[in-house]
Amino acid sequence: MKREFYRNFFVVFCAAAAAVFAVFWIVFPNSDELKVAFLDVGQGDAVLIKTPYGQNILIDGGPDKTVERRLSEELPWRDKRIDLMVLTHPHGDHLVGLIGVMKRYEVGRILYTGVIHSSAAYRAWLEEAREKKIPVIIADRPRKIKLGPNGELNIIYPRRNLAGKTASNLNNSSVVVKLRYGETDFLFTGDIESEAKQELAGVYGADELRADVLKVAHHGSADSGNREFFEKVGAKIAVIQVGANNEFGHPDRRVVKRLERAGVRVFRTDINGTVRVASDGKEIKVLRP
Ligand SMILES: [Zn+2]
Repeated sequence: MKREFYRNFFVVFCAAAAAVFAVFWIVFPNSDELKVAFLDVGQGDAVLIKTPYGQNILIDGGPDKTVERRLSEELPWRDKRIDLMVLTHPHGDHLVGLIGVMKRYEVGRILYTGVIHSSAAYRAWLEEAREKKIPVIIADRPRKIKLGPNGELNIIYPRRNLAGKTASNLNNSSVVVKLRYGETDFLFTGDIESEAKQELAGVYGADELRADVLKVAHHGSADSGNREFFEKVGAKIAVIQVGANNEFGHPDRRVVKRLERAGVRVFRTDINGTVRVASDGKEIKVLRP
């Protein structure tokens, strides 16, 4: 009888301890982790980075308001801050969602190239930024933005000033950033095509391009699969942001195969939904939804 009492007591004690631990885990999640969510916004790009220093960074906003719903899934309802908004280039599938985000969130700074493009959406986005007096950083040369003692955002492309200029291929004007946290790296490549990749592979060494996680450029299109570039990056995880049954036939099957044959784990937002990756500064893990 006594033995049974102790056994029951032990079971109840363990259950209570597990419950307390679970509540703490939910209320105080591991704050040493950097989290990157490749948001499922259909045919377009939108990536939310949550740094262990409390910053929210949004790279692109997808083609419509879907990004607002996705952000509310990733951020607590009280958190309406985007510390840094990055527009890689002003094509609609990267830009349109950012207009609503700027209206509903408090945006600290904007990073973009300042390149000329005549779409109504781009004008609306620029107007909103002007009205809100959001400070702007022009990505006109390689530079680093320090995020905290162990993290930085490294702007590696474009390597020249495009502000007030037209670009013959807007995709190749995309801002490319490398995010470093501890010993782990993420590379975000916008929609750059072969020409820009060749330039990057030519000017940067393997050390500067190497990344654990690669956001595959241009929704995995045929021109995104430059072999030299993939080899220099040497990613273990690749994420393709793409809409289901899109009219462009993205991603290109050969690009996906090439990555898989090289042993890269490939995730796609059309199949996997929002893809969440976390880093503790040493290791990368893909979080289950
Ligand atoms: Zn695009």
